[in-house]
Amino acid sequence: MPGTELFGAEEKKEVNDVLETGILFRYNHDAQRNNIWKAREFEEEVKKITKAKFAHAVSSGSTAVSCALAAAGIGAGDEVIVPPFTFIASVEAVLFAGALPVFAEIDESLCLSPEGIRAAITPKTKAVLLVHMCGGMARIDEIVALCKEKNIALVEDAGQAFGASFKGTFVGLFGKAGSYSFDFFKIATAGEGGVFVTNDEQAYRHAETYSDHGHDHIGNNRGMENHPIVGFNFRIGELNAAVGVAQTRRVPYVIKKNRENKAFLTAELSKIPGVSFSKLADPAGDSATFLNLLLPDTASAKRVVEEFNNAGVGGFNYWFLNMYHFINQWDHLKNMKTAAPLAIQVLGAPQDYTKLQLPKSQEVVGRLISFGIRVTWTEDEMKALCAKIKACIQKALSPIHA
Ligand SMILES: *Cc1c(COP(=O)(O)O)cnc(C)c1O
Repeated sequence: MPGTELFGAEEKKEVNDVLETGILFRYNHDAQRNNIWKAREFEEEVKKITKAKFAHAVSSGSTAVSCALAAAGIGAGDEVIVPPFTFIASVEAVLFAGALPVFAEIDESLCLSPEGIRAAITPKTKAVLLVHMCGGMARIDEIVALCKEKNIALVEDAGQAFGASFKGTFVGLFGKAGSYSFDFFKIATAGEGGVFVTNDEQAYRHAETYSDHGHDHIGNNRGMENHPIVGFNFRIGELNAAVGVAQTRRVPYVIKKNRENKAFLTAELSKIPGVSFSKLADPAGDSATFLNLLLPDTASAKRVVEEFNNAGVGGFNYWFLNMYHFINQWDHLKNMKTAAPLAIQVLGAPQDYTKLQLPKSQEVVGRLISFGIRVTWTEDEMKALCAKIKACIQKALSPIHA
């Protein structure tokens, strides 16, 4: 995980700029801040990479998803198509917007498929919340066309795919609004942080006022600003934003190096019979944070995981059993265990989540083992890792088990 692998003098310098002035707040205090505006700088760095017209930094990737939904006009009672394989924040953001998640099938892209989305559309469908998983991207051109055909909004949660692109356009910028996460486990980290992006000025205005109690951010008397809409506090602080600035500047290097390392591993591991990889709609646009192995079936993937654990091979995720990334473990959500009633509990859920059948998603996630690509790997380390992976997979797939 590069965000945590590369950390040093550059991050300290940016944070120190803030500590010198003591202005930890992103707005106002013009006289005291000595022209230090880290949240704004963070947004500029994100725009440089993604070519987004507008970017707005917030407190987390989760709140960035909330801003994206709000900016797209998604709210109470709206059906939003979501994947069963995602970090659960995507689904939580839909629920807390008062909207109703409708789960649809993913495919070997690890993202919602156009076929899955089409099958889940109802007259009440307002939006698709497309999540670009594991550093890659969905079949975005087909999904954009489908959303246009059906006249539904496209919102992208690119929490795991900052820096990934499809045919030259960065993920997050295909629909009404998109989001990135800069938490501690992403390609770049702000400690905690997220960024909302859009090419639509009105969506941007909504997101930036929504994320700060409706403030319109005009003038220099915060208490007397107008509040065009009701909002809440999703602000990022200057210290986190400062880390985000330094980290975002590292991303072009990280992606270049990640791609080299992933290509090395892919070449080695593709020689193993029975191993294939997740599909990338545009391989050239991969952010290459994960190498996603697909085993022949769930049973063999589980045996491979067991062999990895026995052999002390680390650095991988078996999402099928992960508590936060796959629907099979989301009993709290299926049974609507909430602190207080949400809109969905008043309006009624659009699907019986306890009886959902998503066979394609079960098959794909069951077969999937993802290795986090390390930017600091040496060739010797990668060779040693590949040898271990190969031995474990061969053992797990040997005919004894058949
Ligand atoms: C990490 C992540 C989020 C949430 O980001 P936080 O910054 O941890 O709130 C949302 N969606 C996806 C797909 C993620 O991977």
